[in-house]
Amino acid sequence: MNNLNKTIAEKITATLQHAGFTAYFAGGCVRDALLGRTPKDYDVATDARPEEVEALFPKTLPLGKAFGVIAVIDSGVTIEVATFRVEVGTLDGRRPETVHFSAATEDAKRRDFTINGLFYDPATKTVLDYIGGREDLEKRVIRAIGDPHLRFQEDHLRMMRAIRFTHTLDFSLEEKTAEAIKQLAPLLPRISAERIEMELSRILVEARHPGDALRDLARLGLLEQIIPEMMPMIGQEQPPQFHPEGDVFEHTVLMLNAMTERSRELAYSVLLHDVGKPPTATIGAGTDGKPRIRFDGHAAVGATVSEAILRRLKLPKKEIEHIVAAIHGHMRFMDVQQMRTATLRKMVGAETFPLELELHRLDCLGSHAMLDNYDFLQAFKDKMASEPILPDPWINGRDCIQLGLSEGKAIGKLLKEAYEGQIENRFADREEALAWLKNQI
Ligand code: ATP
Ligand code: MG
Repeated sequence: MNNLNKTIAEKITATLQHAGFTAYFAGGCVRDALLGRTPKDYDVATDARPEEVEALFPKTLPLGKAFGVIAVIDSGVTIEVATFRVEVGTLDGRRPETVHFSAATEDAKRRDFTINGLFYDPATKTVLDYIGGREDLEKRVIRAIGDPHLRFQEDHLRMMRAIRFTHTLDFSLEEKTAEAIKQLAPLLPRISAERIEMELSRILVEARHPGDALRDLARLGLLEQIIPEMMPMIGQEQPPQFHPEGDVFEHTVLMLNAMTERSRELAYSVLLHDVGKPPTATIGAGTDGKPRIRFDGHAAVGATVSEAILRRLKLPKKEIEHIVAAIHGHMRFMDVQQMRTATLRKMVGAETFPLELELHRLDCLGSHAMLDNYDFLQAFKDKMASEPILPDPWINGRDCIQLGLSEGKAIGKLLKEAYEGQIENRFADREEALAWLKNQI
């Protein structure tokens, strides 16, 4: 699939060049190819005007024609072809007022980070570097092109992109670029919640070490702008016997870094599972009678707080439900070995159980590292899987007593027969089973 994308992008570039235009691969795909990573998509940049691009290819879409972006469709593949441009007057910190079409050297300078400002000519197999991108790729550095203050003032979302590229590529964030984010972070809320969330979840899902990325978001002042409710987690002490790793924030960082399976639901469940700890912290008696910090009811409080956060971030309703359920239930896992089988069956059968179990596993790994409850549940699940799944009985002892029966032994025998009848489909529903029971009595 990706090879086809590359082939089509090469074909489009060649068509433009044969018509006398300059045309290159641009941005992320050049970066990824030089890093030996598979590019997500191939973008083409050219000095041909949008109308000229449209005239050259049979199938196009005016994606962002005012900004010079035309989608060219070939063999089912869509490639964005953008005219070299300079963006002018970003008054709101979100999008440019207008654009001027320009040359490749200027188009490179309007891009966000040096490693994203490279071009590649597939015809001559050469990289065109007008902004020092190759050097930074080698040094593994994320550096804003030009003055980082100006660049982040133009487009505040770039601050989130800086963290994303730093942590998905495992690069370091250049000093002055980081300093500018620290100063301008308070501007971030001018960006729509949806766009901020998209970057945040990409960071949590795609980063090599999402916990380290969270540390950077906090250190540079971005977390405070996105999820201020999390700030009291920093420095929130916990009983060292349960949490040798340190404060609530540190515990969350460790869990995020331990994530193997990656999904948005799991990432937010981990991120927010203990957000209810700071508001519920009290000094109370521990099991040994000595005073210790307690967080009674923190799962329920955390669920409420998380729901408000996730709504504000505009996550889909279903995902919010799943995440909130996982957070609400996360302390039940401490008691599973004392639970009744029926309770366990219900827990294991829940739609959110795989999510909850993984959250619990990480919770253990991020603290005492003891997985006995996790192992117990896995074993229980395996045992259940090897047994046929039986429905709940329609008739119970209460029905018999209500019908005037009092002898335990007789009730037991009737219940057994009623359940057999149910399993063997001799009754259509509970009503029929009850009618049968009355008859027997
Ligand atoms: P990925 O697709 O993996 O997220 P990418 O680098 O391809 O990474 P895109 O968002 O697809 O990122 O953008 C393509 C290119 O457009 C970038 O490489 C960069 O050169 C430029 N670009 C994207 N967003 C911005 C922005 N907010 N400010 C400046 N340049 C940008
Ligand atoms: Mg891209």
